[in-house]
Amino acid sequence: MRRPQHLALVTVLAGVAAVGAGCARPKTEAKAPVRAVKHTPPDIDYAKVRPNELGYIPVIMYHEIGGKPVKSDPSLVRQVDAFRKDVQLLYDAGFRPVNLSDVLEDRIDLPPGTSPVVLTFDDGRESQFRLIETSDALKIDPDCAMGVLDAFHKKHPDWEMRATFFVLPKSRKTMEPFGQLGRGAQKLDYLLKEGMEIGNHSTLHEDMSRMTPAQLQAEIGGAHNSLTAMAPEAKITAIALPMGKYPRNKAHWKYLTKGTYQGKSYEYKGAMKAAYRAIPAPANNTYDPLQLERVSCADVNWGVRDWIKRLTSGGMYPRYVSDGDPNVVSYPKGSESLVNTAKLAKQNKLANAYSPFGGDGGSKPIISAAEESPSSAKVPTTTVTEKPITGG
Ligand SMILES: [Zn+2]
Repeated sequence: MRRPQHLALVTVLAGVAAVGAGCARPKTEAKAPVRAVKHTPPDIDYAKVRPNELGYIPVIMYHEIGGKPVKSDPSLVRQVDAFRKDVQLLYDAGFRPVNLSDVLEDRIDLPPGTSPVVLTFDDGRESQFRLIETSDALKIDPDCAMGVLDAFHKKHPDWEMRATFFVLPKSRKTMEPFGQLGRGAQKLDYLLKEGMEIGNHSTLHEDMSRMTPAQLQAEIGGAHNSLTAMAPEAKITAIALPMGKYPRNKAHWKYLTKGTYQGKSYEYKGAMKAAYRAIPAPANNTYDPLQLERVSCADVNWGVRDWIKRLTSGGMYPRYVSDGDPNVVSYPKGSESLVNTAKLAKQNKLANAYSPFGGDGGSKPIISAAEESPSSAKVPTTTVTEKPITGG
């Protein structure tokens, strides 16, 4: 990734020298040194890149890849060629995949001018990840989702292997994640090593709308415990609710992201609905991680291809466009009211409003909204406590 020319300014406030490797830990260490990290706007051509890190991100929902269409719900089956074309259209329109956790944990890190897209796959169906056994190896079926993404990544290395699979663990309802018996753990391990991730989709895929707190924690915690036992490397950060059905009692929503089951606890950052719009950026104050919507993969109004156009046409849903620096949130002037300033301050990120019109506005120096401009939204620079690096 191209880094901004201006490095972040690091001011050492406390008079502490870095302690080199091999040195002993200093004895007077009651207080760790405090450093204020000040970020500067990235050195990009703003009129050309037009970053908008308050814009919308499509999170696309896939289930079956290939097979017999389901008339009652066209979003359940995406034909293989249509899926291949979705990926190509997204790529051609400047989208690049990130994992859902990159959104939930505010670390979208894409080159300037590109836009994030999250591909999600529900239910752990075999058509998402199928292996073909040859005499000496297990080959990924080129017509399953993983095969399509793998081939696309090989042809376009800047389309990285990123996707979020909301799988179901082994249970009386599910024989094995991704179908093929005895291969579930190996598949989970493979996709994690490729840089993709898994999410929680409950244990039995039942309607959660009337579940008690204990039932919710059994459904979610049970799946969490089984999946993390099967894939110890997995770091689960979200749940996709079966059928997109939320508990009717809103007081129970807290168990969607936090709870305990059989002595083990889970703690997530987000919960996913089943429909139907792109989501606002995490720095946007309309972002709601407990009710993240998804875009249908069907060829319908508000489906994936419609959204590619919608996000590009500059209407009600301007797309998220990266400025290339994950520590700076850039957006066109005039969008200040959308900035979640408290969140940015907490994360020590710089809010960077720029004039989108070029000409006089574009030639003005871009200043830190946090520091120099009294009229703009105030994002105070926070201090970061860093402990000295010590050897052995
Ligand atoms: Zn499902």
